[in-house]
Amino acid sequence: MLAATSFLDRLFDAGILMETGVEGLYARSGAFERVVDGIDRVISRFGDADGAEVVRFPPGMNRMVFEKTGYMKNFPNLAGTVHCFCGDDSGHAEIIAALEAGDDWSRQQALSEIALTPAACYPLYPIAARRGSLPADGRLFDILSYCFRHEPSREATRQQMFRMREYVRMGTPDQVQAFRQMWIDRAGAMVGVFGLEGAVDLANDPFFGRAGRMLKNNQRQQTLKFEMLIPVESVEKPTACMSFNYHQDHFGTLWNIRTATDETAHTACVGFGMERLALAMLRHHGLEIEGWPAPVREALWGAA
Ligand code: ATP
Ligand code: ZN
Repeated sequence: MLAATSFLDRLFDAGILMETGVEGLYARSGAFERVVDGIDRVISRFGDADGAEVVRFPPGMNRMVFEKTGYMKNFPNLAGTVHCFCGDDSGHAEIIAALEAGDDWSRQQALSEIALTPAACYPLYPIAARRGSLPADGRLFDILSYCFRHEPSREATRQQMFRMREYVRMGTPDQVQAFRQMWIDRAGAMVGVFGLEGAVDLANDPFFGRAGRMLKNNQRQQTLKFEMLIPVESVEKPTACMSFNYHQDHFGTLWNIRTATDETAHTACVGFGMERLALAMLRHHGLEIEGWPAPVREALWGAA
């Protein structure tokens, strides 16, 4: 029996995503990008009044920062690092010979100073720390980065390279927890503006291996992570399209970020999966964006 056409296949057929031959690595059409732009604008509309400082990142980050953040320890299976050739003529000749023979040419590759960014906020903390102590009302950033996670999948919502927009708050425990709660409340309204339905639920990060099991449990017990779940691939297993994370003093301690009263800063972030939100809308409202409900079109792109 033929399998039913998957959501991913329908996106390919409609030309909204384009295959590259690698699962989870896709080109995006103009229509898809219009949706992403609209979502970006709605997020700004909710967050702009808070006066966040805008920072935009390239998709790679300082590997030392990446290592210090503990990504290789906690998520070695998802990590991606950039390797480069730093050899001489004989090394070059070896590469050419290996390529011609169809052999492994990677022996001439060495770890570079860049890692692929796995979460948009990781490169922000050392930048903020270098500015010295936080002002009395803390700091708030509006960030965006392409992120990489090695999790090849046939689900359109699980990509290897995707955009994550975030607001990141640094300050006292009270300040950052109030920020997170504010965004959990706003997220419900935002999902309504998108014409979608979703629910916030407790969550955990996919810490690797047996040791990771305890970390997952701790994270849940301390209610450090919530997600906005929206049906995209299926109703039974809704997709995490936003996340609301309280890091306690993890990054504050790691980078020595100090509050105005010289205590270790606490941090929290709210993350928006731009591709997942766009896919949720495409799934719910259909692949022809011209046919979407007028209020949704109006919210994304203004009066047409
Ligand atoms: P999941 O549990 O589904 O793997 P996550 O909890 O690890 O996701 P976060 O680390 O909280 O995700 O990342 C913030 C947001 O980035 C998520 O809420 C999601 O919208 C988006 N995101 C995470 N992984 C992917 C992916 N592989 N493809 C597309 N978007 C993603
Ligand atoms: Zn974050």
